[in-house]
Amino acid sequence: MITPVIAIHGGAGAMARAAMSPEKEQEYLDALRRIVAAGQQVLADGGSALDAVTEAVRLLEDCPLFNAGHGAVFTSAATHELDAAIMDGATLRSGAIANVSNVRNPVLAARKVMENSKHVFFVGAGAENYAAEQGLEIVDPSYFSTEARREQLLRVQRENPDAAVLDHDGQALVARGQPAPADPLDSDKKFGTVGAVALDAQGNLAAATSTGGITNKQVGRVGDAPLIGAGTYANNRTCAVSTTGTGEMFIRMVSAYDISALMEYTGASLEQAADRVVMEKLPTIEGKGGLVAVDAQGNVALPFNTEGMYRGFGRVGQQPEVAIYR
Ligand code: ASP
Repeated sequence: MITPVIAIHGGAGAMARAAMSPEKEQEYLDALRRIVAAGQQVLADGGSALDAVTEAVRLLEDCPLFNAGHGAVFTSAATHELDAAIMDGATLRSGAIANVSNVRNPVLAARKVMENSKHVFFVGAGAENYAAEQGLEIVDPSYFSTEARREQLLRVQRENPDAAVLDHDGQALVARGQPAPADPLDSDKKFGTVGAVALDAQGNLAAATSTGGITNKQVGRVGDAPLIGAGTYANNRTCAVSTTGTGEMFIRMVSAYDISALMEYTGASLEQAADRVVMEKLPTIEGKGGLVAVDAQGNVALPFNTEGMYRGFGRVGQQPEVAIYR
């Protein structure tokens, strides 16, 4: 008898050390709890793991608190380029899109690619056209912009124009008399990708990840989120994984697949494999971030090597558990 479970993340990063208002923190926790609960409901109604991760990531994309969909970060050219992927652990079917700027919900486009195309990965204009042909909602690129993210870009460009991942924290901002960051995790040091993994009542696993990338990234840059095996992976034989962090390092380490491979080839448990990748392997190349993972038995792992990660999980019939810091 399998108890279905879903786990989600809304990005990992450094803590905003400036006094964080309890209200703001509560806002993040409430959003995480609401979205875990929505995923649990899909599973409780007999929905598939694929449907649960699709719905959770769609809700995370629509929530401006997280850096994916509405509220996505800006590129160095003050544009948005969104990436997403989804994978079905039962069949290894996958779909991904990258560098799109007008598809409201990139995760839905990734799902269409998986289900209706003979290909796995579309980028740029081809991905946008495919999403439109599939009847998905197309929006003006300004839909993704929020004032908070624009200020973040301007701050990065002013203070550290070459950095794509910033080098200062909330404390430093306050010391310079600038407003304290509004996120519990320092928005300049946080990797705001969103993702979900789930196990359904049939024993099937699925993973989905969606992102705006990192602030001030060069136009055309693609991170790990849409790359099957790097930021997203699911295989019923082992586990489902969705990552967040310095995408380049997760690509170089093929991190999501590495967890599955460690389990398959060495017999490691989910927890052992996930800890090894996040706490031992990624740090050797200064890879920062974390991931959510679930295995075919319903074990959940939520490791991160940063100060915090927006995260939560819920088993069907139980209350969602959500957290930000260690
Ligand atoms: N991993 C993402 C990327 O490199 C960033 C993130 O996690 O927010 O695009």
